[in-house]
Amino acid sequence: MYWQKDIETAPREDLERLQLERLWHTVAMASGADFYRQRFSEAGFQPQSLRSLDDLRRIPFTTKEDLRSGFPYRFLCVGLEQCVRLHSSSGTTGRITVIFHTQGDIDNWTELLSRSMYATGMRTSDVFQNMMSYGLFTGGLGFHYGAERLGALVLPTAAGNSKRQIFFMKNLGTTVIHIIPSYALSLLNTFAGEGVDPKEDVALRIAFLGAEPHSEATRRKVEEAYGLEAFNSYGLSEMNGPGVAFECARKAGMHVWEDAYILEVIDPATGEPVPDGEEGELVFTNLTREGMPLLRYRSRDLASVYPEPCPCGRTHRRISRIKGRVDDMFIIKGVNVFPMQVEKALMEIPEVGNNFVIVLERNDRGDQITVKVEVNPASFTGDVRALTHLQERIRSRLRSEILVTPKVELLEPQSLPATEGKAVRVRDNREL
Ligand code: ADP
Ligand code: ZN
Repeated sequence: MYWQKDIETAPREDLERLQLERLWHTVAMASGADFYRQRFSEAGFQPQSLRSLDDLRRIPFTTKEDLRSGFPYRFLCVGLEQCVRLHSSSGTTGRITVIFHTQGDIDNWTELLSRSMYATGMRTSDVFQNMMSYGLFTGGLGFHYGAERLGALVLPTAAGNSKRQIFFMKNLGTTVIHIIPSYALSLLNTFAGEGVDPKEDVALRIAFLGAEPHSEATRRKVEEAYGLEAFNSYGLSEMNGPGVAFECARKAGMHVWEDAYILEVIDPATGEPVPDGEEGELVFTNLTREGMPLLRYRSRDLASVYPEPCPCGRTHRRISRIKGRVDDMFIIKGVNVFPMQVEKALMEIPEVGNNFVIVLERNDRGDQITVKVEVNPASFTGDVRALTHLQERIRSRLRSEILVTPKVELLEPQSLPATEGKAVRVRDNREL
């Protein structure tokens, strides 16, 4: 049941003692990097004065802007000759940032992924198809190494080329996939086009869904369409990549691997901690990184902690689904909306197809929101009354979720461009 039982089920006080020991070491290492040496001296922080985990709060936050300003070497605390790999963020929200890894960093990260996958029930007999882009993005290589160490057969098919993906699944008996949720949905169109039934004609049993926000309704949709169990996988390149938090077989929140990361949840406006159970911004501190440890890194991702122990026996705290990034939120008619709220409402309606986009515009009547929705092929009949009825249902479901009445446009199946990477859900034309 466990990959590393002693660590995964360690009593909280042992886990926290381990965290403190590792934090001492990490802070000492970090003070060797130009960035932190300067930061510590500006903040009047002395590494040797750190006595408890609470003392961590005396260190200022590290932000994405800091990483950009420190590009490329200011965070490095070992010589380049000790580094073996570089990764970067996908650049979803601006200029890229880079992270250097030593061999030890890669090994530790790999273990976290093996541990994560093992917790969902994946075993050596599985055939694992990794449908994430390989390269600078961490989702490809991170999972690749973790699955190999677990002992599964790895098919590094990478992202895209949907027909070939299906070919491999069918002919090589793929049982486990790693896939971006929006791509898992749009791939269903290719399955239909190929006349392959994802439930009957392939042997999938597990999917890891990650890299972008998705709702419980999307999970269910993927599970039902493919006939498998889907697990939420969270990570960010600044904290290695995937393997920061992962669902166990209970599928009730993601365990944050607290032997490798310290998690704080803060109010993004004030920087103050929020109580367990309340939503806030996730802040992470590396505990096992050698090349480029980051302290109190502000992820911009919003979620909450589930304080109750998990029935699986793991003692590492769980977090909720990620609602989105602080900066994903848009304001329409004075109301704050996250794209995930729209996604959740849509995916609860069975007649809705596999893709949608939110368009924001401004005209003389003010801001307008239009949700363009592909209809499920089975429901895309020529029956105008049924479609008008569906349109009205979508509109009222969205209104109750986002508290603004959108315009709803129904589209033919597969008429929106399918994405292979992270989906871009919002087209904001208001500034044009
Ligand atoms: P970028 O920040 O440029 O997209 P990354 O590749 O590091 O670069 O992506 C990490 C980000 O992806 C996270 O900060 C988070 O916003 C998002 N993400 C990753 N996994 C999930 C998940 N399971 N649910 C929601 N969002 C996720
Ligand atoms: Zn659990």
